[in-house]
Order: sequence, then C-alpha cells, then structure tokens
Amino acid sequence: MIRDECMIGCGPCAVCKRFFTFDVDRVPSSHGEPICRTCLAAVNRRKRSLGMPEWHPLPGAYPFDDGDDGTEGPTTPRDMIAHPIVIPAEGAPAIRMPANGADFTLEELHAVCGGYIETVRLALVSPTVALLVVNEEGMRLELPLNPTATRLAGQPILGTVLLCPRRFLR
Ligand SMILES: [Zn+2]
Repeated sequence: MIRDECMIGCGPCAVCKRFFTFDVDRVPSSHGEPICRTCLAAVNRRKRSLGMPEWHPLPGAYPFDDGDDGTEGPTTPRDMIAHPIVIPAEGAPAIRMPANGADFTLEELHAVCGGYIETVRLALVSPTVALLVVNEEGMRLELPLNPTATRLAGQPILGTVLLCPRRFLR
C-alpha cells in the first residue's frame, strides 16, 4: 500500500542496523528508531512462542517491500533498501525499475529527473548502499522543493528524485 501522503524514511533498523525504507508515520519503532520487517517478524516469533500478543504494525509500514501489507513478510534480508523509488516533489512515490532490470542508463535517469543529473548523499545511509539522483539544475529551472528528499538528504533538494540503491547505478 502506498498512500498519497506516504512519507518515506530510510535509515538503520534499531535492532539489526541494516538500512531499509519505511513509511515514517507507520513503521514500528523502539525508542524512536524504526524496526525492519525482518526483525519485527523475529520479535513476533518469540512473542508467539511465549504466548504473548504479537506486535502488529500499521498497514503500509513497509510500502516498498514485496509484501506491502505491513504484516509478517520475508525473513531474509530483503527489506534493505530493495527498490529504486521515484519521489516526486508532490504526490505519491513509486517503485521504478531500470528497463534492463539491472542498472539505469544515463538517459533513464535524465528522464526521471527532467534534465541533467547529479547524485547526493543521504543523511543516514552510506553512499555504498544508496544515493539520491537529483536534477543538477533544480535552482536554475526553479523546480519545487521536494520535502521528502530534503529530509532524506538533510539539505534542500528540488524537483523529482530517484532514491536509488547503489547497485542499480553504473
Ligand atoms: Zn532489523
């Protein structure tokens, strides 16, 4: 489920420290730090074995996983920033895979961002894991502020961006 107002976050899991993407308003958290789907499933297995009530995240907590209902999903490490995600300045983000399934061409990245591109580091994520691909001329083109991308980068970002796992970039 990807809601119109979905606020994407990405950062390390409170438990396993792997980086993953989540809906900021819906992800379960421990002391304000998000918990990934894999760790939540492990917690719930333990609770179940102890006869304790399980912990149900809000639907859509993990909108960019394959199973996106926020319930128990894959238990392999796949909710680590798994998909490239187009984040428009306004409106809902969406998964965008490269045409060849492996990596983006420069032309594809130009098309997503509407012009020449540059990469920007994420505030909480190593550049070896993921980067933001942004329009290099956002100021000159007077593109609108992208609030989600601005929060992810920790600096003002303009226009449509691609939140991109490093392995999808050449
Ligand atoms: Zn985890």
